[in-house]
Order: sequence, then C-alpha cells, then structure tokens
Amino acid sequence: MPEYLAVGNWKMNTTVSEAVMLASAIKENLGNSTPQGVEAVICPPFVSLVPVLDVIKDSSLKLGAQNAYSEAKGAFTGEISPNMLADICQYVLIGHSERRHIMREGYQVIGQKMKAVVAAGLRPVLCVGETLSQRKQGAAEAVVRRQIETGLVDIHSVEGLVIAYEPVWAIGTGVPATPVTVIDITGGAIRAELAKLYGEDAALEVPVLYGGSVTPENVSGFLQEPSIQGTLVGGASLNADQFTEIVRLTAEIKSGV
Ligand code: PEP
Repeated sequence: MPEYLAVGNWKMNTTVSEAVMLASAIKENLGNSTPQGVEAVICPPFVSLVPVLDVIKDSSLKLGAQNAYSEAKGAFTGEISPNMLADICQYVLIGHSERRHIMREGYQVIGQKMKAVVAAGLRPVLCVGETLSQRKQGAAEAVVRRQIETGLVDIHSVEGLVIAYEPVWAIGTGVPATPVTVIDITGGAIRAELAKLYGEDAALEVPVLYGGSVTPENVSGFLQEPSIQGTLVGGASLNADQFTEIVRLTAEIKSGV
C-alpha cells in the first residue's frame, strides 16, 4: 500500500520571518507527531528552507522545495541544484503547472530535472494536469499520460516517486475539480501509464495526490476516493489551522486515526 501525504506548496509567498512563523504554527498544531500513517510536507520558498528546517528539525514535519535545476553544479547563475537541496529537504516539486505554463518548462526539461532530483536522493513530486481547453477537447487523459511518460523517461524505478494530479483549471481558482471528475485520471490514466512503464504492482505503490483549490471543507471528498493518496495544497497551506486540519482529515479518512 502507498503511504498518504499532505503537501503544502507555499509558492512565492512568505518572507523569511513569515515562513518561520507559519512553520512554527503548523508544528505547534501538530504537537509531537504527525498523525500516524500520514507524511506532512511543507514547501516554503528557497530562501526560507534553512530557517524553516531549523524550526521543524525536531518534529515529524518534512521539508520540500518547489523546484530544482537539472544539473548538479556549475555555471547556471541563479539556479539551485538538487544536490544543494539534498542536505536540507526530502521532497522537491517538479513540473508544477506554474512552471510549465509561466516559466515555459517543457517535457524535456522536466524529464531532466526528474533525473537529477532522483540522482540526488530526493523524492520528486511530479505534477501533471491538463488545461481547461485540453479537457474540453477530450484530451485530458492523453495530456496527463504524455506528461508522465516524458517526466519519467529516465526514471527506472518507482521508489520514492510521488505523482500530483493538478488540473490547471482548478489551481488557485477556488474552483476545485470534483472527486468524480478526477478519478478517470487518478485511477485511470495515471495508473495505466505507470503500469505501462513499471508494471501493475509497481504502479499501485506510487502515491497519487490531488491538487487544485483543496480546503478543509472539500478535502474529504477527494480523500474518500481510493485512487487518491493525499493532496497537494496551495492557498490553504498558508494558513496553519487549515493545513493541519487537512493533515488530520487525511489521517482520519485514510488511516482511520
Ligand atoms: C498548488 O499550488 O499546487 C495548488 C494546488 O494551489 P491551490 O491549492 O491554491 O489551488
């Protein structure tokens, strides 16, 4: 069985002191440990990773970065390598829709980043999802399968891999997908593509998260869906109470805690 996850993506929000306060509040809310069976991960901006690590190092919270470059070191001004991150955090988001669409990261770049992240010993959260026009054209499943195939082109094992399905039209819009709309992707296209690449058994080991306007109010519907093992949360992860409630609900619904 895959594990269950609640991942908070803070995006380009919080100054260093705000990030420290938010991490402290989440840590305090969760007490000594994350509810059993759930991995709670926070992904602050790069500049706040070390100060936040200092806050959470004696807690069960895990740390993630929002991006990484595809090379280990060298003349790449302004970039951060997976090797630098490996000392600090456990997870890295790769291929978030804002990077695909605003920063114009293509399939090849994302595949190279995935390879570098895995080589550095980090757990990649490969984000996939279709735009509204792709969905309207009936291309959602094909788009997601292609994003998975190209993202994993140099990844030879599912160990440590996490996939986040985030329909672009649901991210930051306040309009989440419905659990019924997403199961063709989380239970269908994603598992089918993983099974094609790694076999049926391995495909079932990969946690698949839903992301897109998740809140404590709507998260239960997604978590009740067996093909979803957790959530990637943007806006609501900037509120300590909302994020910890999502962590608590993940434990309650998925692990029965
Ligand atoms: C995200 O940042 O990955 C995300 C899903 O954002 P939001 O929850 O704000 O839609």
